[in-house]
Amino acid sequence: MDLGLQEKVIIVTGGAKGIGEAISKLVAAEGGIVVIAGRSTADNEKTVSDIIAAGGKALAVTAELGLVDDCRKVITETVAKYGKIDGLVNNAGANDGVGLENGSPERFMQSLQNNLSHYYNLAHFALPYLKATKGNIVNIGSKVATTGQGNTSGYAASKGAINALTREWAVEMLPYSIRINTVIPAEVWTPLYETWINSLPNPQEKLASITAKIPFERRMTTSAEIANTTVFLLSPRSSHTTGQIVYVDGGYTHLDRSIS
Ligand code: NAP
Repeated sequence: MDLGLQEKVIIVTGGAKGIGEAISKLVAAEGGIVVIAGRSTADNEKTVSDIIAAGGKALAVTAELGLVDDCRKVITETVAKYGKIDGLVNNAGANDGVGLENGSPERFMQSLQNNLSHYYNLAHFALPYLKATKGNIVNIGSKVATTGQGNTSGYAASKGAINALTREWAVEMLPYSIRINTVIPAEVWTPLYETWINSLPNPQEKLASITAKIPFERRMTTSAEIANTTVFLLSPRSSHTTGQIVYVDGGYTHLDRSIS
């Protein structure tokens, strides 16, 4: 299927690693132009050079997305280089373990800044350009918004808000034909996931106990599987899909995990 993404300019936050890297590379493979926005210049440039080496088009923008001015810069640099924006993938985030008991008001607000505010800020600054192209937004959420996890209030609040904003923005953007959707991963092997599992007392045992509870094929979701759904939603092939929260999680969130 031709997804119709040739020459479409798509911003992917956190697009250098993990799920974001898979999305960036798939957009480029479909003929789109990727703008990778993330905090590490070296990581961004590595993924951009991988894409260019494979015959694709990409730009790196260094941005600490918790900072409003850096979000503004992502949009201005994209428009300065390409003159338009067709899509925004709000993906960057981290499960940062700011708990109710173990956190603090300051750390909670910082977690919202790192996981939630830039989803709004980038959408806000990109809006005039998305209106011009009838572009669209795909947010990457988390099953934590639905299931909870414990000891991660800031992240859970951010991901819950992203689900709410998916519906809210989809309604507000109807007059402009801008679609908004969210993809929900549960357990995906990425650098972030590896760091988290290795922070636990018995990482290998914990990993085995998690994968044993993933209903579909008792395995983790791959970044490529998240990317496939995300890029389909970004594409004009999803032209009548908006306000949807799509779980790409092997049934982890909604199926009965006690069934073996
Ligand atoms: P990852 O491997 O850590 O990649 C995320 C990328 O985003 C990294 O390059 C990271 O930079 C960058 N980034 C994160 N926060 C940033 C910020 N505030 N400013 C600038 N750059 C930032 O993460 P991932 O596992 O692919 O996760 C991607 C998304 O999926 C996140 O929204 C996460 O909540 C969601 N998710 C993942 C899973 C999973 O199982 N992996 C499950 C549910 C939801 P650094 O490496 O320098 O920090």
